[in-house]
Amino acid sequence: MIQLSNIEKVYRTKTIETIALNKVNLGINKGEFVAIMGPSGCGKSTLLNIMGLLDSPTAGTISLDGQAVTSFGDKKLANFRNKKLGFIFQSYHLINDLSVLDNVELPLLYRDGVSGSERRKRAMEALEKVGLSARMKHYPNQLSGGQRQRVAIARAIIGDPEIILADEPTGNLDSVMGEEVINILLNLNKTDGTTIVMVTHDEHMANKTQRIIRFFDGQQVN
Ligand code: ADP
Ligand code: ADP
Repeated sequence: MIQLSNIEKVYRTKTIETIALNKVNLGINKGEFVAIMGPSGCGKSTLLNIMGLLDSPTAGTISLDGQAVTSFGDKKLANFRNKKLGFIFQSYHLINDLSVLDNVELPLLYRDGVSGSERRKRAMEALEKVGLSARMKHYPNQLSGGQRQRVAIARAIIGDPEIILADEPTGNLDSVMGEEVINILLNLNKTDGTTIVMVTHDEHMANKTQRIIRFFDGQQVN
């Protein structure tokens, strides 16, 4: 499902060169739920951003769902990202002056051929999956952290992505809310077969996934 071959990422400023990823070869199968772990600065976010086509590697190739995306142009890449991928961040990244329902609908706004009523219907279905139907008219700042993250998950799944990329999705949550969020992800993986890649610092959360990939200094170590 995800194949990274010889991926290198170098950040260059006038004076400093940082090798964030050093010749990474990594495959993730369809339907897998994997955790990526490692100390701060080892390249986890960079890896996730490259898998999510939010950032491009300095060298190497990426194939997603059998397609060599490294050669795609910007427009094709944006379409591919919108159709196939869902993103979840540690700090939710919700828009505070949009209602829960409007936040969840956002990814479908840029998709051709989806009417307003279809969008609404799918947003309500996504909110039901995360157990937040009763909060659809609320605004993000009226919700707890765990509820905000569930809204973000609903937004990530509204387009039926094949892959969900989650960067520390439970990092800002207490253990009870973290547990709710991980259970929703486990359920999406199990019932919809969604492939999930999750960066986490939390061994307890990581142990619930099928495989832990450990990074150190820009390289996989297991
Ligand atoms: P992690 O997510 O594991 O904490 P990152 O992928 O954020 O690690 O960072 C990997 C390395 O790349 C670190 O040394 C970090 O300082 C550096 N880095 C990340 N983003 C940038 C950037 N935009 N410019 C320069 N260096 C960066
Ligand atoms: P954190 O809370 O540790 O910053 P997030 O999960 O919120 O992490 O962010 C995920 C990714 O999005 C990171 O690679 C981060 O650099 C990027 N990011 C976070 N906030 C912003 C922002 N306001 N503008 C641009 N990029 C951001």
